[in-house]
Amino acid sequence: MVKHKKYLQEETRKELGFIDYSDFTEDEFADARLAFAADSKFCLSVVANDGFPTHKKKEIAFAGRSNVGKSSLINSVTNVSGLARVSNTPGRTQMINFFSQGETFFIVDLPGFGYAKASKESIKQWSQLTKDYLLGRKELETVFFLIDSRHGIKEIDENIMEILDKSAVSYQIILTKFDKIKKNEIENLLLRTNEKISRRPAARPGILATSSKDKFGIDLLKCLIYRIIKY
Ligand code: GDP
Repeated sequence: MVKHKKYLQEETRKELGFIDYSDFTEDEFADARLAFAADSKFCLSVVANDGFPTHKKKEIAFAGRSNVGKSSLINSVTNVSGLARVSNTPGRTQMINFFSQGETFFIVDLPGFGYAKASKESIKQWSQLTKDYLLGRKELETVFFLIDSRHGIKEIDENIMEILDKSAVSYQIILTKFDKIKKNEIENLLLRTNEKISRRPAARPGILATSSKDKFGIDLLKCLIYRIIKY
């Protein structure tokens, strides 16, 4: 279990909203582990807005630029190595994939954005389908918005956040590939990220750092998801 103290002093951690073990109770860890011990199964890929599944369960969605580490993170949190595709050809998939997590809730994998060189073009490519999903999906509780730790929030991410703010769907910032940055860069990354999300009405407070490579933050992500689907 890697604790935040390896990276930040307690006061700095709180100030910078760095989510860590002390933000959750032992019961929450146990319940979250139980929720994720159930089978994670691929259900369907949706390519048109009349194809969204009908059910009464909650959904949490993952969004991020192509290559941000979204598939790897979904595989890590569900503990199923091939569940979401990990690929070297980013930007190819423009469909929304649904995975059921036991009988409890659904994980929704939104298409990666930002692969095309011109960012305006990439947003268009992020497809009307995704916007339809974000704007109209009452089952959707929260979007986990993934940001590559090495790059921080870029303009294209802010453009997508704009869409999320307008659609009034809450989103949680998750840093990926945290193993790739140097310890002395962490504070600055958190400062810059906080500065950008503090002005955003639909952003949930706090920043969760994760690494699929060394499984850092995965237990915490399970707890965050559990908190959201529980209520
Ligand atoms: P996606 O396009 O957002 O689904 O990203 P992928 O999960 O396919 O990952 C893109 C690339 O980043 C792959 O080469 C992964 O092996 C790599 N990657 C993903 N997560 C991590 C991580 O936590 N640490 C490191 N070092 N590499 C990662």
